[in-house]
Amino acid sequence: MRIGEVRVRSVLSRSGLPGLRYSLNPYRGCQHACRYCYSPSVLRETRPWGEFVDLKINAVEVLGEELKGKPRGMVGVGTVTDPYQPVEARAGLTRGCLRVLREHGFPVCLQTKSDLILRDRDLIEGGDVEVGVTITTMDERISRVLEPGASPPSRRARVLEEFSSAGVSTWLFLGPLLPSLTDSEEGLEEVVEVAAGTGSLVIYDKLNLRRGVMERLEGALRELSPETLRILLSPALRSRAWKEERERVERICRKKGVRCEPAFGPSSEGEAPLGEHGHP
Ligand code: SF4
Repeated sequence: MRIGEVRVRSVLSRSGLPGLRYSLNPYRGCQHACRYCYSPSVLRETRPWGEFVDLKINAVEVLGEELKGKPRGMVGVGTVTDPYQPVEARAGLTRGCLRVLREHGFPVCLQTKSDLILRDRDLIEGGDVEVGVTITTMDERISRVLEPGASPPSRRARVLEEFSSAGVSTWLFLGPLLPSLTDSEEGLEEVVEVAAGTGSLVIYDKLNLRRGVMERLEGALRELSPETLRILLSPALRSRAWKEERERVERICRKKGVRCEPAFGPSSEGEAPLGEHGHP
């Protein structure tokens, strides 16, 4: 893992993502190394994904300057790379940015796959902060292959439990749905149970096959589920699987009394919006 430091002139950008006015990513690169990640394509990054992280070493001070005079609005922290990847434990850039955002009275939306976020309870609870956690599957074996650097699903579920019981608004990102691997009735029920137990909104999404994703995912799918690979390689089968997945997720959520919505609106058939993007 190559950990480097960069100095930046800006850390806050306007966001085109639903519900967000700004986005903020203290890191470039991600140690979670998810096989389905499409952030390299969003960032036009050519270095091997999962093997490097650049710390935006002056992010906290630059943010303090940038917020002066900016109209208030929701700041999405970790829209492209995970703000609580392991290096955050010592670098503390996300924590520093959270403190500055709080001092300036900006609402924050955090998204992660790591229970390191629990370290920052003091800055999250009682503030204008919502917490989103991605759970692709509750199956630890599948998660270990697909998301080798992230916290195991049970620990992510705990994050939602802890914050929800402290009165923090929470949501669960269920995705990417992988046909014939993570989209079974039982598998989806297990994830939706976590949302039901924590009062979290479920936001679900299909696999985003941006450039480079299939190359990184293919080996893992050959090991885990060749059938998934067969479906994903066929546009017709893929489209049918997504239709069925949407119906299944909506039905299970209805049954369990959980609110849910697709990540990019009801017509999220095509490509996700270009430019910046929520990391899955
Ligand atoms: S999907 Fe998110 S957590 Fe996983 S490698 Fe990409 S940026 Fe990191």
